[in-house]
Amino acid sequence: MQSKKPGVHLSLAMESLNRFEGLQKELPTDIEFKKIGGMVIIETDAEYRAMEKFIKEQQAIGLDVRLLDLHQALEKEPFLSPSILGSTFSPLDAQVNPINLTLGFALAAKRNHARIINHAEVLGIHTKNNRVTGVATTRGNFDADIVVNAAGSMAGLISELVGISMPVHPRRGQIVVTHAGKPVLAHCLISAKYIAAKYDPSLADKAGQGISMEQADNGNLLLGSTREFVGFNKENTLSGIRRIIRQTAAVLPVLENFQVIRTFAGLRPYTPDGLPILGPVRHLNGFFMAAGHEGDGIALSPVTGDLMARMLLGQKIHTPLDAFSPDRFENYGGKHHG
Ligand SMILES: Cc1cc2nc3c(=O)[nH]c(=O)nc-3n(C[C@H](O)[C@H](O)[C@H](O)COP(=O)(O)OP(=O)(O)OC[C@H]3O[C@@H](n4cnc5c(N)ncnc54)[C@H](O)[C@@H]3O)c2cc1C
Repeated sequence: MQSKKPGVHLSLAMESLNRFEGLQKELPTDIEFKKIGGMVIIETDAEYRAMEKFIKEQQAIGLDVRLLDLHQALEKEPFLSPSILGSTFSPLDAQVNPINLTLGFALAAKRNHARIINHAEVLGIHTKNNRVTGVATTRGNFDADIVVNAAGSMAGLISELVGISMPVHPRRGQIVVTHAGKPVLAHCLISAKYIAAKYDPSLADKAGQGISMEQADNGNLLLGSTREFVGFNKENTLSGIRRIIRQTAAVLPVLENFQVIRTFAGLRPYTPDGLPILGPVRHLNGFFMAAGHEGDGIALSPVTGDLMARMLLGQKIHTPLDAFSPDRFENYGGKHHG
């Protein structure tokens, strides 16, 4: 919750949070949803001032969040370095197992008669008289009145198939995983620099990329992460791994006793204004976007699913959706099809 931009973005995340509580029971997999609370680690005076302002905006939206001094922060997380200045704390930050969540959504969809066709690469989108009529894939053609582009960091490539430009760019994130050790973290932690880097790419270069730290149920620590524009390259780099380890160990010195067992990298679907793209594409009837969630696609998945389902069924939606509309990108569309 704390890494969400105050405004419509945070409101969407709060709606999602409410849905997660029910999903733990509703989905057929154990999604390991836990509202354990989270802290934003503050290391400099400038960050302290910036976070003071940031949390005021978050509080105005209704997020339960407050500032902690060093003593209070160490009470919550005794393994943190006493060199930090303090932190923020929100009891609403939560974690979830993203693999079990994805499988849970897929199994629940199948239970409701969805057909999932794996290993079918979309090669083209058929259109007629300015509306979609189907998709061409490596496993054949499928007729469809509605096509939803939910291709994550590749959503821009899918839109290009129908000549529509959508600014979704892959932004690489690297993660370091440690062995399953004793519990050393009770909350999800990110650094104030992480928030700055998320919303201002130029800051990511100047101020470093910030860190995130979580301990999974079985004791593995997940240490992240980088935010890099390197095309569709999903490799780990020595410099990225070094930076993550150096920055996390400075804040959590007990990491010295943990062994790194693996690293991985993924691509976040970045959009220039930090908001996802949700809704119908004006210039092509039946073509919808549900992509561009950057580092929030897991957190926002329940609310995205709900909103898209309602939109496709033509039902009333209470959330204001203009800020997420594909129309907000001036150079999109314009070309006629069919
Ligand atoms: C290091 C890292 C840390 C992250 N941490 C968090 C976090 O803490 N919280 C959070 O909420 N989010 C986090 N994210 C972001 C989250 O993973 C993404 O926002 C989310 O996965 C996006 O979901 P999506 O369904 O839109 O896209 P994806 O999960 O990328 O799914 C898109 C799918 O489309 C398929 N596809 C693409 N092109 C085609 C084609 N031509 N034909 C057929 N299929 C196609 C792909 O194979 C893929 O399966 C993190 C990401 C990274 C990399």
